[in-house]
Amino acid sequence: MSDLKPARVRFAPSPTGRFHIGGARTALYDFLLARQTGGQFILRIEDTDRKRYVPGAEGEIMESLRWLGLDWDEGPDIGGPYRPYRQSERTEFYQQHAENLVARGHGYYCFCTPERLSQLRKQQQKLKQPPRYDGHCRRLDPEEARGRVADGESFVIRFKTPREGSTTAVDLLRGPITVENSTLDDYILLKSDGLPVYHLAAMVDDHMMKISHVFRGSEWLPTFPLHVLIYEALDWEQPIWVHLSIFLNPSGKGKMSKRDAGVNEIYVLDLKQMGYLPEGLLNWIALMGWSYDDRTEFFTLDELIEKFSLQKLHPSPAAVDYKKLDHFNGNHIRSLAPDELADRLRPYLKMEGLEVNEGILQQITPLVQERIRTLDEAADIAGFFFHKTVEPDPSELIGKNMTREESIVATRRSYEVIESLPTIEVEPLEAALRVLAEEMNLTAGQLFGILRIAITGQRISTPLIESMEVIGKQEVLNRITRAVDLLESQAER
Ligand code: GLU
Repeated sequence: MSDLKPARVRFAPSPTGRFHIGGARTALYDFLLARQTGGQFILRIEDTDRKRYVPGAEGEIMESLRWLGLDWDEGPDIGGPYRPYRQSERTEFYQQHAENLVARGHGYYCFCTPERLSQLRKQQQKLKQPPRYDGHCRRLDPEEARGRVADGESFVIRFKTPREGSTTAVDLLRGPITVENSTLDDYILLKSDGLPVYHLAAMVDDHMMKISHVFRGSEWLPTFPLHVLIYEALDWEQPIWVHLSIFLNPSGKGKMSKRDAGVNEIYVLDLKQMGYLPEGLLNWIALMGWSYDDRTEFFTLDELIEKFSLQKLHPSPAAVDYKKLDHFNGNHIRSLAPDELADRLRPYLKMEGLEVNEGILQQITPLVQERIRTLDEAADIAGFFFHKTVEPDPSELIGKNMTREESIVATRRSYEVIESLPTIEVEPLEAALRVLAEEMNLTAGQLFGILRIAITGQRISTPLIESMEVIGKQEVLNRITRAVDLLESQAER
């Protein structure tokens, strides 16, 4: 464990859509810092924007985090000392603090109607001025304003941004960012329906929940000074702010991997469906904004917990490189124990409608382990093991640069050679077939090419000889007989 103080970090997604890799990266960094320092990782649902609320989104967030193995210590489902953890259940706190800002002279009631505001916006557009509140209600006498509120007039609470001076906000990755206060708006903090906007709700919660580090997307940089001003207005101690780099869409340049084609692959559960391991995904996103050194690229979650450091985070945009993801995923697949990999493969094989025989699954797992980059590829290269028969395309049974007749002879001879072997273990089988190829003046590639189609029905499969051993001598002979028949019936036509 590091010598840093136990960190309290929160992941605060809005349930406004599907859960994507950007959110997963933020959650990962939160989790890493919490685990490394022996602190807490908190899940807070920021659902105050009812217009953008998407039913089911919260469930997808939790399912994704659980699948990734990023378990939280406090959250809406499990509670915790600072409950509730869903902002829609915390309205009274936001109202209190908005009132508090008004009482301290850092906020004010605003009664401007939507019509007046839209009029104002139009005017500003015409004059090519930035859209900004003109301070109409800022000038109201506080007593009078209070009276209007008491009378039931509709109002919002705005932040009373200082007109003079400047504000410096310090981001861990970028250093101090200073803005002139005159460029900032009097932002609405509490809406007329009594619900807070992000700028209020998140600050109140981070303070109340004793958050030590705020990791969030760099889209919050423009309003970062406002957040600092709110902290200052309430005399609160600021957390350490970390704005994470943006993601660049994969460029159209270079060879596109098959995963580049769609748009859905940024969603965590879609990537799961596509056969990525949580380990591969975590490794990939960990390095989109953080690095350990120039060389090390393979990390397990435990290694990330150990090696993660705030100093190595960087603000440069992260390229979403799916080839890298495939690469990491393949590495993580190869590092799983075969039993573990078999467990992971099973649901993907079933998804393809295959009836999974456990004995065969155990036997083929080591064969696919070296060859797949995603779990769904196992069905492509090894699905045939679970079929009783294969249906080779007769034209594919003709060997490379060979005639049909030569292919028939080669297939028949293979039958004889295999039949004569007491067992078909890999070594004697391979040796015998190589001798046969030589005798027939064929390359091993030519002969194995025919046999691969005969035995597996496909051009790309698990290694041929090993696959034959798994399938067993009798079934191998049956398939070769069938291949001869297919070749001969073609020849007769
Ligand atoms: N609810 C905000 C979002 O989803 C969270 C930003 C933050 O972490 O403070 O963008």
